[in-house]
Amino acid sequence: MKFDTVIIGGGLSGLICGIYLSKRGQRCVIISSGQSALHFSSGSFDLLNALPDGTGVNHPLEAVEELILQAPEHPYAKLGVEKFATLAAKAKSFLEEAGVPVSGDERKNHYRITPMGTMKPTWLTLKEQLMSAEKDRLPWKKIAVFNVTGFLDFYTQFLVDEFCKMGTECRVHLIHFPALENLRKNPTEMRSVNIARVFDHPENLDELIRILREKSVDCEAVVLPAILGLGRDNVLDYVQNEIKKPVRLVSTLPPSVPGIRAQQRLCRSFQQAGGVYMPGDTVLKADREGRRITRLYSADHGDIPFVGQQVVLATGSYFSQGLIAEPDRIYEPVFDLDVSYLKDREQWYRHNVFEVQPYQSFGVKTNTDFRGMYRGEPLDNLYVAGAVLEGYNAMKEGCGAGVSILSALYVAERILSK
Ligand SMILES: Cc1cc2nc3c(=O)[nH]c(=O)nc-3n(C[C@H](O)[C@H](O)[C@H](O)COP(=O)(O)OP(=O)(O)OC[C@H]3O[C@@H](n4cnc5c(N)ncnc54)[C@H](O)[C@@H]3O)c2cc1C
Repeated sequence: MKFDTVIIGGGLSGLICGIYLSKRGQRCVIISSGQSALHFSSGSFDLLNALPDGTGVNHPLEAVEELILQAPEHPYAKLGVEKFATLAAKAKSFLEEAGVPVSGDERKNHYRITPMGTMKPTWLTLKEQLMSAEKDRLPWKKIAVFNVTGFLDFYTQFLVDEFCKMGTECRVHLIHFPALENLRKNPTEMRSVNIARVFDHPENLDELIRILREKSVDCEAVVLPAILGLGRDNVLDYVQNEIKKPVRLVSTLPPSVPGIRAQQRLCRSFQQAGGVYMPGDTVLKADREGRRITRLYSADHGDIPFVGQQVVLATGSYFSQGLIAEPDRIYEPVFDLDVSYLKDREQWYRHNVFEVQPYQSFGVKTNTDFRGMYRGEPLDNLYVAGAVLEGYNAMKEGCGAGVSILSALYVAERILSK
């Protein structure tokens, strides 16, 4: 099977790269084993919330120069200050054109609301999600907070406690919804995705709207767990239009309905641009001639190889098995690319889980072009993007999605420039 570019991994990074290339006429395939980090997403994309030394960042564009000084191997250091700014500016409209509308911008972080009701800085937030421009205030003085009976992955009291501290009065309503009774019989079925499927049915959604309208008359806005809009587009617009006030969603414990919806829309955008998406297949190994990858072999296709002029590795970190940690080594399983990690296992982690964990910055080594390194030299046609990259700590620096999106766009530009 011959393609211009073969992309391994269909999470945020692989999909962004694939959409960019397909829209510009390349014939691309994405081969992807399984769920991606988007299935667990907060509903927001982080660009840069803190420097490696722990200093908080409000203005990512102003802070990136210092970041590069502190972390020369950081993917943003490979992009450089100017490219970082250009790609960050491009990302918002790129996502919107791909069917993922977002709020926010790269000049100043805003705040997303966690399931605990606390505020976390972030870059772009999916349009339906609750967010605030300020760290200690919501946009409204009085809101109605809803949950459905028996749904344990969303705890309204956490939100109410925090919102009250910020000066927002909350009216809490627990909705008893007959259409969910079947799910409630087995508590393990009472998960966000299953509930969202129930509300994808127009008659259930309309009944929910009736309840929201009736119970929120004296409130400025409605807050719900993120259990709407899995299989239907523009659901929030419809609900807001019907009840005539702002309605916002707050992420639940995983799985993440907003993240899954974003994944589905990116996937659809890739396919509409002509891309071939192969879910459930795993690339196992590759043939290499000199410094070129010539053929890729997957679990489902056996000895029928994938052949690409260019190859992109976007397989994610440990979580997605783009990196594998064994007791005495960390390796990249498809190409055995060079991986940066400390040889002494005792130094991989710190006993206090809240400290910076060194293993989180381990990853695949690349040159400044994001070409994968093999035995100390870059391969000619293998690019690396996203969470599998070395040199950054997505959790401590709050830069996970930013690295995935910006590196994917950069790699796509490099491929097109060839
Ligand atoms: C649980 C979790 C939640 C996160 N939430 C956020 C968040 O809310 N906001 C934020 O900014 N950042 C978040 N991050 C950081 C995250 O890394 C990035 O935001 C980003 O989504 C990662 O995208 P990716 O495409 O690089 O990797 P992934 O999303 O990990 O995708 C990699 C894909 O490659 C596939 N794959 C792996 N190996 C193979 C193979 N050999 N063959 C074929 N396919 C393969 C995997 O199945 C997976 O689908 C989160 C990370 C994790 C782990």
